[in-house]
Amino acid sequence: MNKEYKVPTWEPGVKQLAPNIYAYIQAKATWYWSNAGFIVGNDYVVVVDSLATVGLTRKFSDEIREITDKPIRYLINTHHHGDHIYGNHVFTEATIISHDYCRREAIEQGIRDPGLMNTIFPEFDFRGIAVTPADITFDKQLTLYMDEGEVRLLHFGPGHTAGDIIVYLPEEGIIFAGDFIFLYSTPLGMEGSFDGWLRNLDAMANLGAQTYVPGHGPVCGAEGLNLCRDYLVFVQREAKKRFDRGMTVDEAANDIDLGQFKQWPNHERILANVERLWREFRGEDPTTSKLDIAELFLRMDTMAKAREL
Ligand SMILES: [Zn+2]
Repeated sequence: MNKEYKVPTWEPGVKQLAPNIYAYIQAKATWYWSNAGFIVGNDYVVVVDSLATVGLTRKFSDEIREITDKPIRYLINTHHHGDHIYGNHVFTEATIISHDYCRREAIEQGIRDPGLMNTIFPEFDFRGIAVTPADITFDKQLTLYMDEGEVRLLHFGPGHTAGDIIVYLPEEGIIFAGDFIFLYSTPLGMEGSFDGWLRNLDAMANLGAQTYVPGHGPVCGAEGLNLCRDYLVFVQREAKKRFDRGMTVDEAANDIDLGQFKQWPNHERILANVERLWREFRGEDPTTSKLDIAELFLRMDTMAKAREL
């Protein structure tokens, strides 16, 4: 067993990455425990992602206020998943920016059934969420010129979802990677494209940043990006063998031995990943070939509980 994959502990909270750039890191990388960040300029603050609940986002907002009292002018959403947007409305003054697809999906998916959510994820309080989509959207690239520096928002095609962006700070060599990097929890690829995700990781690596803020897990360098890539390549390869043998999604998901990735929590996500891969192997477009996510959450929950027995 390769020790690189072993889940370490890490320090949660606000982490200063450069004089005016901060990551906000959770102690866990599991379901709905997502990271965020913020950039403090001369006149205003830019926030990267809100969190999964109103309470978690208020706590994040309070942490920003410990550092600065400047107005929060922009809130960037890396993608439409609830753990990155459900707290958007807590930042009442911010103009929200996302990819076109992120806005569309935020509106279409809305907030999931709170009863279902509370059953599957009882440690979170999902009450009081009012899904608030972006005010400004873009497709390939949008640059904020902030003081003397640039905040580049980049989209390299479908990956973790069909509308993820990264936030690249070229002067500091820092990337807020959103959910392109899951570190020490199982990557979740139910909505995008595995080939596309790998292309996104390559494009990101080619930017040459030294520091990545993952959507889930501790701040890392290129080694963190590579561990996430290892999982994607492994699952794609193992799934393809079973697809070619004519297995069903459930048969394949149960048959794949995760090996060293068994150490990462939420390995029931193999089910969602195989569901997506089956569609990808059939050549379906991720923007139109959608899964029933509520149903998938229940199946993953059943699988997770069965594995705990
Ligand atoms: Zn996500």
